[in-house]
Amino acid sequence: MAPDHHRVTIIGSGPAGHTAAIYLARAQMQPIMFEGMMANGFAPGGQLTTTTDVENYPGFPTGILGSELMDSMREQSIRCGTVIETETIAKVDTSSRPFKLWREGSENEEVPADTTDAIIFATGASAKRMNLPGESKYWQNGISACAVCDGAAPLFRNKPLVVVGGGDSAAEEAIYLTKYASKVHVLVRRDVLRASKVMASRLLNHPKVQVHFKTSPIECIGNGDVLTEVLFRNTETGEKGSIEASGLFYAIGHTPATSLVKGQVDLDEQGYIKTVPGSSLTNVEGFFAAGDVQDKRYRQAITSAGSGCMAALDAERYLSELEC
Ligand code: FAD
Ligand code: NDP
Repeated sequence: MAPDHHRVTIIGSGPAGHTAAIYLARAQMQPIMFEGMMANGFAPGGQLTTTTDVENYPGFPTGILGSELMDSMREQSIRCGTVIETETIAKVDTSSRPFKLWREGSENEEVPADTTDAIIFATGASAKRMNLPGESKYWQNGISACAVCDGAAPLFRNKPLVVVGGGDSAAEEAIYLTKYASKVHVLVRRDVLRASKVMASRLLNHPKVQVHFKTSPIECIGNGDVLTEVLFRNTETGEKGSIEASGLFYAIGHTPATSLVKGQVDLDEQGYIKTVPGSSLTNVEGFFAAGDVQDKRYRQAITSAGSGCMAALDAERYLSELEC
């Protein structure tokens, strides 16, 4: 059977994918979106569907549930004319035009199910976790991987908190948390910080921060409802100890969902898609990237939505020139 041909295909249904869809549909570009499928380990709607209240997305003065926000974006995408397929893309070939796409389950077929003139790649990223004993029990009940998202919650107010990691994210998140916490303990597995000099110095000199070098968390303890304590181990001597904490924030890096295009599109050393600064353009003409998959710094719903808009405008211009 001949493949279905699309002008523009959006892979991913987080804030970046839906914003791109809304703009492209309104510009009569007939976008199709593959939103991912739960059964394949992908949450349609993206990362925000895994959280409760989102309090920093503009337009919702009393906050909004992450899943409600994403349902609204989906409804808006459809109302504007986007076709949404609840399927996962399993293989992409950008080596010739049109680009080829294989859906999960058909990746071994020679002929792809879909071809497309342009792709907006918005597959997101996921925070690395340590899978410690107790972690899944207290996940989102004291344990988080996003201080900016969750740090202001009443649970963390005037309480001791723990941040794990020694990079710029850990430094930034720990300093951010000092606004709410009584004290922030930063656990660094080596005897040095990976963070830039300026961030490291800010962290080390902050009166509310205590950095514990050569220290790794080993277990999360709670009272059955919320986290109350973090057990740790000295990475050199093996000596164990514990810190009273109402919050444990992982800042040990993210994994961008780029395995589909590795070797086809330029990635940076951490696997994020490289875009031309200030745009969504990649090294492959017609392949645009938006959201967390190309952003290791901000990683917020609003910045993802903004970059989805950029990708739609870039793709629209590309397609208009292609079709002239
Ligand atoms: P994502 O939201 O990650 O969406 C990626 C999408 O791609 C998913 O829909 C997935 O199904 C799909 N996908 C992936 N691979 C494929 C494939 N092969 N085929 C088809 N589909 C695919 N930010 C805030 O601004 N405020 C907050 O309060 C906030 N709270 C958060 C709480 C938690 C627990 C987490 C984890 C994150 C939070 N964030 C928050 C961050 C925010 O969720 C992300 O920055 C944002 O969702 C990134 O959007 P995105 O569109 O780039 O990707
Ligand atoms: P990084 O990869 O830079 O740092 C991750 C940190 O987590 C490292 O200290 C690493 O330790 C530690 N770590 C990793 N795995 C574990 C583990 N299993 N147990 C304990 N510790 C662990 O990630 P970041 O998210 O901090 O930064 C990503 C990129 O984004 C960087 O390029 C950074 O500069 C940039 N960024 C810049 C910001 C800014 O300029 N304001 C803000 C945030 C990010 P080790 O050092 O031993 O490997």
